[in-house]
Amino acid sequence: MKIGIPRALAYYAYYPFLNTFFEKLGLEVIVSDETTKEIMDMGIQDTITDACVPIKLFHGHVRNLMERVDYVLVPRLVSINHESTFCPKFLGLPDMLSCSISQLQNMLEVRIDLKKSRLELFMVCMRLAKKFKKGFFSAYNAYLKALLSFKNYTHQFLQGGIPPLGIVGQKKNNPIHLAVVGYPYMLYDPYLSLDLIKKLANMGVYVVTPEMLSERDKKKQAGKLKKTLFWTFSNEVIRSAYYFFENRNVDGIIHVTAFGCGPDFIVDKLMEIDAKKYKMPYLTITLDEHTGQGGLNTRLEAFVDMLKIKKSRKEAALA
Ligand code: SF4
Repeated sequence: MKIGIPRALAYYAYYPFLNTFFEKLGLEVIVSDETTKEIMDMGIQDTITDACVPIKLFHGHVRNLMERVDYVLVPRLVSINHESTFCPKFLGLPDMLSCSISQLQNMLEVRIDLKKSRLELFMVCMRLAKKFKKGFFSAYNAYLKALLSFKNYTHQFLQGGIPPLGIVGQKKNNPIHLAVVGYPYMLYDPYLSLDLIKKLANMGVYVVTPEMLSERDKKKQAGKLKKTLFWTFSNEVIRSAYYFFENRNVDGIIHVTAFGCGPDFIVDKLMEIDAKKYKMPYLTITLDEHTGQGGLNTRLEAFVDMLKIKKSRKEAALA
């Protein structure tokens, strides 16, 4: 039995859990190929023009998988805590797909709404195991291993200073430290982000991302806004930004956002206003399927050069 996991959206946040759970259950996990122009184009053809680029890309990854697996996993991510839900496009993802790709007959829709009860994740795993005719003990074992794998990934790997999914090779003693904030499926897809983090590392920048901060550090920033935002990933992004504003352990912040993202119209404006208050250099990079390498390189180089000049002036003044 082969389970296909589209390399988009939830994959970038929860892959260690998903992969371990299905593998320990005894199923073969196939992840869709890395994003290419062909995958992007397939997604564009299936979706309406107004959809944000990560949603278009998810459709392309489903197409990439659907012919070669028994089931394509399509999570309906509703909530993982009591304070917020995921963006409406996450909530409606399975409906969107069944309308847009009529040939998709093997969708494995999984609703994740953890605010229902403390045992909900366990119950979801049990229901999945039952579907694949696995017994209680193998399901329980797969669930525990998946939790452990996710915990190790976040604690040892991400918060040890390495950005997710193999973006390595950066050095802490680089002269400029930058926070790059945004949704994980925007930041860590090399095609979608035009390899932005690697570009910065090649310019001699040490990059920190929201996933590299501890949950405790982010939670401490929860009171900075008068009202908690409705959307889970947006809270992660904005709380990380406030952490960097307050701790001043970076020289600037880059916010990577998708063209047409509803929540980010609010999130980006709030961060931009507060960056001014905290006197933190701030740059917004908006990406879509048409963004070119040239324009992005110029903007990044200009921002990094400006930070280097600023830093050397400050050091000269102190000397
Ligand atoms: S948060 Fe924005 S980018 Fe993400 S799925 Fe929703 S609209 Fe798209």
